[in-house]
Amino acid sequence: MSSSESWRGLGMVKETYTSRPAHDLKLEGIREKETYTSRLDCILDKNELSKEGIVFLLKLDRREHLGRLFKKADEVREEYIGEDVYVRGVLEFSNYCRNDCLYCGIRKSNLKLRRYRIKPEEIVGIAKNAVSSLGFRTVLLQSGEDGYYTTEVVEDMIKRILEKCDCRVALSIGERTVEEYKRFYDAGARRCLVRFETSNKKLFEKLHPKSSQTKNSFGRRVKLIKRLGKIGYQVGTGFMVGLPGQSIEDLAGDILMYDRLKANMAGTGPFICHPDTPLACSNNGSFEMSLKVIAVTRIACKDIFISATTALQSLNNANGRELALQAGANLLMPNITPKKYRMLYQLYPNKACVYENPFDCANCVKKVVETVGRTIGRGYGDAIRK
Ligand code: SF4
Repeated sequence: MSSSESWRGLGMVKETYTSRPAHDLKLEGIREKETYTSRLDCILDKNELSKEGIVFLLKLDRREHLGRLFKKADEVREEYIGEDVYVRGVLEFSNYCRNDCLYCGIRKSNLKLRRYRIKPEEIVGIAKNAVSSLGFRTVLLQSGEDGYYTTEVVEDMIKRILEKCDCRVALSIGERTVEEYKRFYDAGARRCLVRFETSNKKLFEKLHPKSSQTKNSFGRRVKLIKRLGKIGYQVGTGFMVGLPGQSIEDLAGDILMYDRLKANMAGTGPFICHPDTPLACSNNGSFEMSLKVIAVTRIACKDIFISATTALQSLNNANGRELALQAGANLLMPNITPKKYRMLYQLYPNKACVYENPFDCANCVKKVVETVGRTIGRGYGDAIRK
Protein backbone atom coordinates (compact mmCIF):
# COMPACT_ATOMS: atom_id res chain seq x y z
CA MET A 1 0.00 0.00 0.00
CA SER A 2 1.39 3.34 -1.04
CA SER A 3 1.58 6.07 1.50
CA SER A 4 -1.11 8.01 -0.32
CA GLU A 5 -3.39 4.96 -0.15
CA SER A 6 -2.67 4.58 3.56
CA TRP A 7 -3.60 8.25 4.10
CA ARG A 8 -6.81 7.69 2.13
CA GLY A 9 -7.48 4.56 4.18
CA LEU A 10 -6.82 6.38 7.40
CA GLY A 11 -9.10 9.13 6.16
CA MET A 12 -11.86 6.61 5.53
CA VAL A 13 -11.43 5.06 8.96
CA LYS A 14 -11.42 8.51 10.47
CA GLU A 15 -14.51 9.44 8.48
CA THR A 16 -16.30 6.26 9.53
CA TYR A 17 -15.64 6.92 13.20
CA THR A 18 -16.27 10.66 13.22
CA SER A 19 -19.06 11.06 10.69
CA ARG A 20 -21.43 8.66 12.44
CA PRO A 21 -21.72 10.59 15.64
CA ALA A 22 -21.99 13.80 13.63
CA HIS A 23 -24.73 12.23 11.54
CA ASP A 24 -26.47 10.99 14.69
CA LEU A 25 -26.18 14.39 16.23
CA LYS A 26 -27.73 15.96 13.15
CA LEU A 27 -30.59 13.46 13.25
CA GLU A 28 -31.06 14.10 16.91
CA GLY A 29 -31.13 17.83 16.20
CA ILE A 30 -33.79 17.33 13.50
CA ARG A 31 -35.86 15.14 15.82
CA GLU A 32 -35.55 17.68 18.60
CA LYS A 33 -36.60 20.45 16.25
CA GLU A 34 -39.59 18.40 15.08
CA THR A 35 -40.65 17.69 18.66
CA TYR A 36 -40.27 21.37 19.54
CA THR A 37 -42.26 22.46 16.49
CA SER A 38 -45.03 19.95 17.11
CA ARG A 39 -45.24 21.09 20.74
CA LEU A 40 -45.59 24.65 19.50
CA ASP A 41 -48.35 23.59 17.08
CA CYS A 42 -50.08 21.67 19.82
CA ILE A 43 -50.05 24.67 22.20
CA LEU A 44 -51.21 27.09 19.53
CA ASP A 45 -54.07 24.77 18.53
CA LYS A 46 -55.47 24.51 22.04
CA ASN A 47 -58.44 26.63 22.99
CA GLU A 48 -57.05 27.42 26.43
CA LEU A 49 -53.48 28.07 27.44
CA SER A 50 -52.02 26.57 30.60
CA LYS A 51 -49.32 28.38 32.58
CA GLU A 52 -46.72 25.93 31.18
CA GLY A 53 -47.96 26.60 27.65
CA ILE A 54 -47.63 30.35 28.18
CA VAL A 55 -44.09 29.95 29.55
CA PHE A 56 -43.17 27.86 26.49
CA LEU A 57 -44.51 30.55 24.15
CA LEU A 58 -42.75 33.35 26.00
CA LYS A 59 -39.46 31.47 25.67
CA LEU A 60 -39.65 31.17 21.87
CA ASP A 61 -36.66 32.81 20.26
CA ARG A 62 -36.22 31.45 16.75
CA ARG A 63 -37.42 33.72 13.99
CA GLU A 64 -39.63 31.03 12.39
CA HIS A 65 -41.30 30.20 15.73
CA LEU A 66 -41.87 33.84 16.58
CA GLY A 67 -43.38 34.33 13.12
CA ARG A 68 -45.89 31.56 13.87
CA LEU A 69 -46.75 33.02 17.26
CA PHE A 70 -47.41 36.50 15.86
CA LYS A 71 -49.36 35.09 12.90
CA LYS A 72 -51.59 33.07 15.21
CA ALA A 73 -52.19 36.13 17.44
CA ASP A 74 -53.11 38.20 14.39
CA GLU A 75 -55.57 35.52 13.23
CA VAL A 76 -57.22 35.44 16.67
CA ARG A 77 -57.43 39.26 16.67
CA GLU A 78 -59.05 39.17 13.21
CA GLU A 79 -61.58 36.53 14.27
CA TYR A 80 -62.61 38.05 17.62
CA ILE A 81 -62.04 41.79 17.17
CA GLY A 82 -62.00 42.49 13.43
CA GLU A 83 -60.08 45.16 11.55
CA ASP A 84 -61.02 48.19 13.64
CA VAL A 85 -58.36 49.90 15.73
CA TYR A 86 -59.83 52.02 18.53
CA VAL A 87 -58.24 55.24 19.66
CA ARG A 88 -58.25 56.75 23.17
CA GLY A 89 -56.96 60.29 23.65
CA VAL A 90 -54.87 60.48 26.83
CA LEU A 91 -54.87 63.73 28.80
CA GLU A 92 -52.16 63.83 31.49
CA PHE A 93 -53.63 66.50 33.71
CA SER A 94 -51.40 66.37 36.83
CA ASN A 95 -47.96 65.00 37.60
CA TYR A 96 -48.35 65.27 41.38
CA CYS A 97 -48.46 61.92 43.13
CA ARG A 98 -48.65 60.91 46.79
CA ASN A 99 -47.03 57.55 45.98
CA ASP A 100 -43.44 56.49 45.65
CA CYS A 101 -43.50 53.53 43.25
CA LEU A 102 -39.84 52.67 42.77
CA TYR A 103 -40.00 52.59 38.96
CA CYS A 104 -41.88 55.81 38.35
CA GLY A 105 -40.43 59.13 37.18
CA ILE A 106 -43.20 61.19 38.82
CA ARG A 107 -42.97 59.47 42.23
CA LYS A 108 -43.22 61.96 45.08
CA SER A 109 -39.55 61.61 46.08
CA ASN A 110 -38.35 62.81 42.70
CA LEU A 111 -37.57 66.35 43.79
CA LYS A 112 -35.93 67.26 40.48
CA LEU A 113 -39.26 67.25 38.70
CA ARG A 114 -41.23 70.46 38.12
CA ARG A 115 -44.82 69.69 39.02
CA TYR A 116 -47.96 70.90 37.23
CA ARG A 117 -51.72 70.70 37.56
CA ILE A 118 -54.09 71.63 34.77
CA LYS A 119 -57.14 73.53 35.95
CA PRO A 120 -60.51 71.80 35.52
CA GLU A 121 -61.78 74.45 33.03
CA GLU A 122 -58.70 73.90 30.88
CA ILE A 123 -59.12 70.10 31.09
CA VAL A 124 -62.71 70.40 29.84
CA GLY A 125 -61.53 72.66 26.98
CA ILE A 126 -58.76 70.23 25.94
CA ALA A 127 -61.24 67.34 25.97
CA LYS A 128 -63.71 69.32 23.88
CA ASN A 129 -61.04 70.09 21.29
CA ALA A 130 -59.94 66.44 21.16
CA VAL A 131 -63.49 65.29 20.45
CA SER A 132 -64.83 68.04 18.20
CA SER A 133 -61.69 68.97 16.24
CA LEU A 134 -59.57 65.81 16.31
CA GLY A 135 -62.37 63.24 16.22
CA PHE A 136 -61.52 61.21 19.34
CA ARG A 137 -64.45 59.35 20.93
CA THR A 138 -62.76 58.52 24.24
CA VAL A 139 -60.96 60.91 26.56
CA LEU A 140 -58.79 59.18 29.15
CA LEU A 141 -58.09 61.46 32.12
CA GLN A 142 -54.74 60.40 33.58
CA SER A 143 -52.73 61.67 36.55
CA GLY A 144 -50.66 60.67 39.53
CA GLU A 145 -52.62 60.01 42.71
CA ASP A 146 -53.38 63.65 43.37
CA GLY A 147 -55.84 64.53 46.14
CA TYR A 148 -56.02 68.14 44.91
CA TYR A 149 -58.70 66.86 42.52
CA THR A 150 -61.28 65.95 45.14
CA THR A 151 -64.20 63.62 44.50
CA GLU A 152 -66.40 66.62 43.74
CA VAL A 153 -63.88 68.15 41.34
CA VAL A 154 -63.46 64.89 39.37
CA GLU A 155 -67.23 64.35 39.31
CA ASP A 156 -67.77 67.86 38.02
CA MET A 157 -65.11 67.49 35.29
CA ILE A 158 -66.71 64.27 34.05
CA LYS A 159 -70.16 65.86 33.90
CA ARG A 160 -68.92 68.98 32.13
CA ILE A 161 -66.98 66.99 29.53
CA LEU A 162 -70.03 64.83 28.81
CA GLU A 163 -72.30 67.89 28.55
CA LYS A 164 -70.06 69.34 25.87
CA CYS A 165 -68.79 66.22 24.05
CA ASP A 166 -70.19 63.05 22.55
CA CYS A 167 -67.59 60.71 23.95
CA ARG A 168 -66.71 58.20 26.64
CA VAL A 169 -64.76 59.41 29.67
CA ALA A 170 -62.18 57.00 31.05
CA LEU A 171 -60.21 57.45 34.28
CA SER A 172 -56.62 56.54 35.07
CA ILE A 173 -56.16 58.32 38.40
CA GLY A 174 -54.96 55.51 40.64
CA GLU A 175 -56.43 54.09 43.80
CA ARG A 176 -59.54 55.87 45.06
CA THR A 177 -62.19 54.36 47.28
CA VAL A 178 -64.96 52.20 45.83
CA GLU A 179 -67.46 54.89 46.91
CA GLU A 180 -65.57 57.53 44.92
CA TYR A 181 -65.45 55.29 41.85
CA LYS A 182 -69.22 54.73 42.22
CA ARG A 183 -69.77 58.48 42.21
CA PHE A 184 -67.57 58.89 39.12
CA TYR A 185 -69.62 56.17 37.42
CA ASP A 186 -72.84 57.95 38.33
CA ALA A 187 -71.36 61.15 36.92
CA GLY A 188 -70.95 59.34 33.59
CA ALA A 189 -67.45 57.77 33.52
CA ARG A 190 -67.65 54.32 31.95
CA ARG A 191 -64.08 53.08 31.76
CA CYS A 192 -61.18 53.03 34.11
CA LEU A 193 -57.61 51.85 34.06
CA VAL A 194 -55.92 50.55 37.21
CA ARG A 195 -52.85 48.42 36.60
CA PHE A 196 -51.84 45.62 38.90
CA GLU A 197 -48.22 46.02 37.61
CA THR A 198 -47.16 42.47 38.55
CA SER A 199 -49.00 39.37 39.76
CA ASN A 200 -46.06 38.48 42.00
CA LYS A 201 -47.21 39.73 45.39
CA LYS A 202 -43.70 39.94 46.86
CA LEU A 203 -42.40 41.86 43.88
CA PHE A 204 -45.42 44.18 43.99
CA GLU A 205 -44.76 44.98 47.61
CA LYS A 206 -41.05 45.62 46.99
CA LEU A 207 -41.89 48.07 44.22
CA HIS A 208 -44.68 49.90 46.05
CA PRO A 209 -43.48 51.11 49.44
CA LYS A 210 -46.10 51.94 52.03
CA SER A 211 -46.13 55.41 53.53
CA SER A 212 -48.18 57.40 55.98
CA GLN A 213 -50.46 58.48 53.15
CA THR A 214 -50.70 55.22 51.23
CA LYS A 215 -51.33 51.65 52.24
CA ASN A 216 -50.13 50.02 49.06
CA SER A 217 -50.88 46.36 49.03
CA PHE A 218 -51.28 43.83 46.29
CA GLY A 219 -54.51 42.45 47.80
CA ARG A 220 -56.06 45.89 48.02
CA ARG A 221 -55.17 46.72 44.40
CA VAL A 222 -56.62 43.43 43.11
CA LYS A 223 -59.76 43.86 45.17
CA LEU A 224 -60.31 47.36 43.82
CA ILE A 225 -59.90 46.19 40.20
CA LYS A 226 -62.51 43.47 40.76
CA ARG A 227 -64.93 45.91 42.41
CA LEU A 228 -64.65 48.33 39.49
CA GLY A 229 -66.09 45.68 37.18
CA LYS A 230 -68.97 45.14 39.58
CA ILE A 231 -69.78 48.87 39.59
CA GLY A 232 -70.24 48.56 35.82
CA TYR A 233 -66.96 49.97 34.47
CA GLN A 234 -65.20 48.53 31.47
CA VAL A 235 -61.98 47.76 33.27
CA GLY A 236 -58.48 48.15 31.91
CA THR A 237 -55.50 46.81 33.77
CA GLY A 238 -51.97 45.65 33.03
CA PHE A 239 -48.41 45.04 34.04
CA MET A 240 -44.84 45.84 33.16
CA VAL A 241 -42.52 43.55 31.24
CA GLY A 242 -38.93 43.28 32.41
CA LEU A 243 -39.21 44.54 35.97
CA PRO A 244 -36.06 43.85 37.99
CA GLY A 245 -36.56 40.50 39.73
CA GLN A 246 -39.39 39.36 37.45
CA SER A 247 -39.30 35.82 35.99
CA ILE A 248 -40.92 34.35 32.88
CA GLU A 249 -43.23 32.41 35.21
CA ASP A 250 -44.30 35.75 36.73
CA LEU A 251 -45.14 37.04 33.26
CA ALA A 252 -47.22 33.93 32.59
CA GLY A 253 -49.04 34.58 35.89
CA ASP A 254 -49.57 38.20 34.81
CA ILE A 255 -51.23 37.13 31.57
CA LEU A 256 -53.50 34.72 33.45
CA MET A 257 -54.52 37.59 35.77
CA TYR A 258 -56.50 39.23 32.96
CA ASP A 259 -59.11 36.48 33.13
CA ARG A 260 -59.03 36.31 36.92
CA LEU A 261 -59.77 40.03 37.07
CA LYS A 262 -62.37 39.84 34.28
CA ALA A 263 -60.51 42.65 32.53
CA ASN A 264 -61.90 44.23 29.37
CA MET A 265 -58.65 45.88 28.37
CA ALA A 266 -55.00 44.88 28.67
CA GLY A 267 -52.26 47.47 28.83
CA THR A 268 -48.82 45.90 28.85
CA GLY A 269 -45.66 47.83 28.32
CA PRO A 270 -41.95 47.34 28.90
CA PHE A 271 -40.33 48.59 32.09
CA ILE A 272 -38.05 51.50 31.17
CA CYS A 273 -35.71 52.62 33.91
CA HIS A 274 -35.83 56.25 34.94
CA PRO A 275 -32.54 57.89 36.04
CA ASP A 276 -34.18 59.74 38.96
CA THR A 277 -35.60 56.66 40.66
CA PRO A 278 -34.12 53.92 42.87
CA LEU A 279 -34.21 51.57 39.85
CA ALA A 280 -31.96 53.87 37.80
CA CYS A 281 -29.29 51.26 37.15
CA SER A 282 -31.61 48.45 36.09
CA ASN A 283 -31.94 47.04 32.59
CA ASN A 284 -34.92 48.01 30.49
CA GLY A 285 -37.55 45.45 29.58
CA SER A 286 -37.13 44.07 26.08
CA PHE A 287 -39.18 45.09 23.09
CA GLU A 288 -39.30 41.52 21.78
CA MET A 289 -40.58 40.10 25.07
CA SER A 290 -43.24 42.83 25.21
CA LEU A 291 -44.42 41.85 21.72
CA LYS A 292 -44.52 38.19 22.75
CA VAL A 293 -46.60 39.12 25.80
CA ILE A 294 -49.08 40.98 23.57
CA ALA A 295 -49.34 37.99 21.21
CA VAL A 296 -49.78 35.46 24.00
CA THR A 297 -52.36 37.70 25.73
CA ARG A 298 -54.34 37.80 22.49
CA ILE A 299 -54.22 34.02 22.10
CA ALA A 300 -55.09 33.43 25.76
CA CYS A 301 -57.79 36.09 26.19
CA LYS A 302 -59.20 36.19 22.63
CA ASP A 303 -61.63 39.17 22.67
CA ILE A 304 -59.91 41.43 25.21
CA PHE A 305 -58.85 44.88 23.95
CA ILE A 306 -55.06 45.24 23.91
CA SER A 307 -53.24 48.54 23.62
CA ALA A 308 -50.07 49.22 21.72
CA THR A 309 -48.64 51.28 24.57
CA THR A 310 -46.57 54.45 24.42
CA ALA A 311 -43.82 52.69 26.40
CA LEU A 312 -43.54 50.13 23.60
CA GLN A 313 -43.36 52.91 21.04
CA SER A 314 -40.68 54.59 23.16
CA LEU A 315 -38.43 51.52 22.79
CA ASN A 316 -39.04 51.33 19.06
CA ASN A 317 -40.19 54.65 17.67
CA ALA A 318 -39.75 53.52 14.07
CA ASN A 319 -42.49 50.89 14.00
CA GLY A 320 -43.20 49.72 17.56
CA ARG A 321 -46.93 50.40 17.40
CA GLU A 322 -47.28 48.86 13.93
CA LEU A 323 -45.60 45.65 15.13
CA ALA A 324 -47.81 45.55 18.21
CA LEU A 325 -50.94 45.93 16.06
CA GLN A 326 -49.72 43.03 13.93
CA ALA A 327 -49.07 40.90 17.01
CA GLY A 328 -52.58 41.13 18.45
CA ALA A 329 -53.11 44.71 19.67
CA ASN A 330 -56.19 46.73 18.66
CA LEU A 331 -55.97 49.99 20.64
CA LEU A 332 -53.87 53.13 20.28
CA MET A 333 -53.60 55.78 22.96
CA PRO A 334 -52.28 59.02 21.48
CA ASN A 335 -51.45 61.91 23.74
CA ILE A 336 -53.80 64.92 23.76
CA THR A 337 -51.94 66.77 26.53
CA PRO A 338 -50.80 70.28 25.46
CA LYS A 339 -47.14 70.25 24.45
CA LYS A 340 -46.01 72.50 27.32
CA TYR A 341 -46.84 69.80 29.91
CA ARG A 342 -45.67 66.68 28.11
CA MET A 343 -42.00 66.82 29.11
CA LEU A 344 -43.10 66.89 32.75
CA TYR A 345 -45.10 63.67 32.58
CA GLN A 346 -42.27 61.26 31.95
CA LEU A 347 -43.02 58.15 33.95
CA TYR A 348 -39.92 56.85 32.17
CA PRO A 349 -37.26 58.67 30.10
CA ASN A 350 -37.27 59.24 26.34
CA LYS A 351 -41.02 58.93 26.25
CA ALA A 352 -42.39 59.10 22.72
CA CYS A 353 -44.35 62.14 21.48
CA VAL A 354 -43.17 64.70 24.05
CA TYR A 355 -42.30 67.25 21.34
CA GLU A 356 -45.56 66.85 19.42
CA ASN A 357 -48.93 68.50 19.92
CA PRO A 358 -52.35 66.80 19.97
CA PHE A 359 -52.91 67.51 16.26
CA ASP A 360 -49.59 65.79 15.32
CA CYS A 361 -50.51 62.76 17.43
CA ALA A 362 -53.96 62.46 15.85
CA ASN A 363 -52.40 62.45 12.38
CA CYS A 364 -49.67 60.06 13.38
CA VAL A 365 -52.22 57.54 14.64
CA LYS A 366 -54.05 57.64 11.28
CA LYS A 367 -50.80 56.85 9.48
CA VAL A 368 -49.99 53.93 11.81
CA VAL A 369 -53.41 52.40 11.22
CA GLU A 370 -53.13 52.88 7.44
CA THR A 371 -49.66 51.32 7.41
CA VAL A 372 -50.97 48.05 8.82
CA GLY A 373 -53.95 48.08 6.44
CA ARG A 374 -56.60 48.42 9.14
CA THR A 375 -59.33 50.99 9.85
CA ILE A 376 -59.95 53.41 12.73
CA GLY A 377 -63.01 52.23 14.65
CA ARG A 378 -65.99 54.57 14.53
CA GLY A 379 -68.22 54.92 17.57
CA TYR A 380 -67.09 54.75 21.18
CA GLY A 381 -65.13 51.54 20.85
CA ASP A 382 -66.77 49.90 23.86
CA ALA A 383 -65.37 46.62 25.07
CA ILE A 384 -66.53 43.48 23.31
CA ARG A 385 -65.57 41.30 26.28
CA LYS A 386 -68.30 41.17 28.91
S1 SF4 B 1 -46.84 54.74 39.14
FE1 SF4 B 1 -48.68 55.95 39.46
S2 SF4 B 1 -49.08 55.79 41.64
FE2 SF4 B 1 -46.96 55.15 41.35
S3 SF4 B 1 -45.73 56.99 41.67
FE3 SF4 B 1 -46.18 56.86 39.47
S4 SF4 B 1 -47.99 58.05 39.11
FE4 SF4 B 1 -47.85 57.64 41.31
